Amino acid sequence: MKVDLEILRLAPYQAGKPISETKREYNLSRVVKLASNENPLGPSPKAMQAIRDALPTLSLYPDPAAHTLISKLEKLWNFPRAQISLGNGSDELIDQLCRIYLTPGDAILTSVAAFQAYELSAMASRAQVCKTPLTKDFRFDLPAHAEFFLKNPDKKIKLIFLANPNNPTGTFFGKKEWEDFLKAVGNRDDVLIVLDEAYTEFVENKDCISGFDYINQYSNLIVLRTFSKIFGLAGLRLGAMIANPEVTDIYNRVRKPFNINELAQVAAAAAIEDLEFIKKTQRLTAEGLKYFHQELTALNLKFLPSQTNFVLFDTERDAKTVYQKMLEQGVILRLVLNYGFPTCLRLSVGLKDENEFAIAVLKKVLSQYPKEFPPCFV
Ligand SMILES: *Cc1c(COP(=O)(O)O)cnc(C)c1O
Repeated sequence: MKVDLEILRLAPYQAGKPISETKREYNLSRVVKLASNENPLGPSPKAMQAIRDALPTLSLYPDPAAHTLISKLEKLWNFPRAQISLGNGSDELIDQLCRIYLTPGDAILTSVAAFQAYELSAMASRAQVCKTPLTKDFRFDLPAHAEFFLKNPDKKIKLIFLANPNNPTGTFFGKKEWEDFLKAVGNRDDVLIVLDEAYTEFVENKDCISGFDYINQYSNLIVLRTFSKIFGLAGLRLGAMIANPEVTDIYNRVRKPFNINELAQVAAAAAIEDLEFIKKTQRLTAEGLKYFHQELTALNLKFLPSQTNFVLFDTERDAKTVYQKMLEQGVILRLVLNYGFPTCLRLSVGLKDENEFAIAVLKKVLSQYPKEFPPCFV
């Protein structure tokens, strides 16, 4: 059976290597996974209790409208339910947006080194992927996005995907660039701007915008949030989309009725109210990032200053070798070759002792291999 070229070109998403698999393969008792930007504190204790309480109801179908959870999100985010929808991870929301708004011959626009889900979902929808280069300081180039979109009507760009801050770079764009971008591309009825804010709760820089402040002014703006990062629920798969009521309505027609399982609904409802846990995660993350920034500087390695819970650093060596050697000693990091950084690794913030273990192993491995390449970050 023949399939389209776009499908044949798809390479499976390369997730972080699981701990259990690493222990088995290398016969290790201690393995630290700092590869997927997960919450090192686990899920919120309140979320875990809510899950235990919900276990006896698992023979029933979940509420397809997720009424209780969405009521809480309405209060938390100050948007009506007509503007809030949920997905099986933001992954599903990205995928459904592509399925809904792209037909073969259409395109998406995103950046070089953008989060890979956009490209994969667009290709699965038989759409083309247009990319603008990063700025010299490795940020999304919003003026270039606006220019590319406006100058290429023949490309039929229907969705513009922006991650702010972006993964794997950890960089963000500022208020002025964003507002100029909206002036150029906002409120059009031939393109949707999808702003993915998976790391927004970790941001400290005041120049980093929140998409929520612009939703009601710009009808073609969509904001994505996730419960996989600060809320510590990656394993349950839950993402949220805030958009104008028309987009919400269309999405709700297309999605599967039971896409959000019962445990995800009750856990998320509890997690958003656990402010103590959120604060604790923010503190731990800020401390961990500061530690990584210090240690990488001491190791004379370049990195991109991050507003997230991970840092992208340049080993100035073949990153695959460093990755493999660290893996053999029980530290799982993330390769970013597929994002165009063959000498770099992405390191997520873990618990204090996990961070220290990772840096100790990194030091040991780097001491065994001399630098081979000039730094790619200046
Ligand atoms: C981790 C991440 C997400 C979250 O994806 P889920 O499917 O919700 O787990 C979304 N966008 C970016 C840029 C991410 O790094």
